[in-house]
Amino acid sequence: MTRPSKALIDLDALRHNYTRMREMHGGRALAVVKANAYGHGALKCAQALSGIADGFAVAFAAEALELRMGGIHKPVLLLEGCFDQDELLQASHQDLWIAVHQESQLQMIEQTTLPAKSLHAWLKIDSGMHRAGFNPDQVKQAYARLAACPAVAAITFMTHFARADEPDQLATAKQIKVFDDATAGLPGDRSLSNSGAIIAWTDARRDWARPGIVLYGADPMPSNNHGLIPVMTLQSKVFAIKTIAPGESLGYGGTFVAERPTRVGLVAIGYADGYPRIAPTGTPIAVDGQLTRTIGRVSMDMLTVDLTDLPEQGIGASIECWGRQIDVNLVAKAAGTISYELLCNVKRVPRVYIGD
Ligand SMILES: *Cc1c(COP(=O)(O)O)cnc(C)c1O
Repeated sequence: MTRPSKALIDLDALRHNYTRMREMHGGRALAVVKANAYGHGALKCAQALSGIADGFAVAFAAEALELRMGGIHKPVLLLEGCFDQDELLQASHQDLWIAVHQESQLQMIEQTTLPAKSLHAWLKIDSGMHRAGFNPDQVKQAYARLAACPAVAAITFMTHFARADEPDQLATAKQIKVFDDATAGLPGDRSLSNSGAIIAWTDARRDWARPGIVLYGADPMPSNNHGLIPVMTLQSKVFAIKTIAPGESLGYGGTFVAERPTRVGLVAIGYADGYPRIAPTGTPIAVDGQLTRTIGRVSMDMLTVDLTDLPEQGIGASIECWGRQIDVNLVAKAAGTISYELLCNVKRVPRVYIGD
């Protein structure tokens, strides 16, 4: 038997989530497949969406080239833009759309000889997150300089929200206003919404949405049902069983001490596969569809689950770490992080695709 651990990726669920979020937002939507599609496999996900997506977004040029080499011909936006002139030349040759978020990128475009009308620039505005982007008072001038470049065929305005997944946060309303004021009267498409804003901020709906985490079915606001279907199921099996006596400890550091005779299932997945080591005893996990908990420390290649109250479960029982039964948000919460990080970190286990 080969090691029974895998990340099952449901491409029908991916298409369902894209369609649902595109309709919710209205207009067009770039499917964000950066970071290897949040751990789901960028090329496979882009291929699965290529018939329905308006385009894709990745962080940087190497991620985009993987899609182009794999036969993806739809628009691909570089969310961080170009880091150097080579990447700018590549963007022009490969017909990649580029974010332009700072002076040095603007100068690079002005100073590089490129074919006429070969660039589609997304002018990024810092509307309040204070990470990347031109300040609102620089926008008109940056726009004018871009528009004057013969290589620039089109300009889209974009901004990014710091707190869109907090529906009561006035910070987002303020960012929308700052963006609208800074771009007032300038021609071009607009793009504001990430996943949280698609769901929670109808005021942010414009020409283009940029859904990321929602495509993968991890709801940024899981308290309401937004009709998303988890795309990844991280699964494995129980490969050994052991009963430990009261007072005995389990695993590295002896962090779990049995209070009663405890039946322990060993599961063939660990932090080297991307299951978070920091997830403590009590993290939810499913055994053949039944909810139980992890106990003891997660190790590199395995973790341990409590089977004391599931006496019918033995060697070979199937395990879901996260997926449709165990919301990845719950595991993330137990580990003090967010679904994004857990999904991005999945590695070593094979990805098995269904629905392509
Ligand atoms: C990653 C990213 C997104 C997608 O964010 P989600 O929260 O996953 O929807 C959208 N826009 C930009 C600029 C990003 O960097």
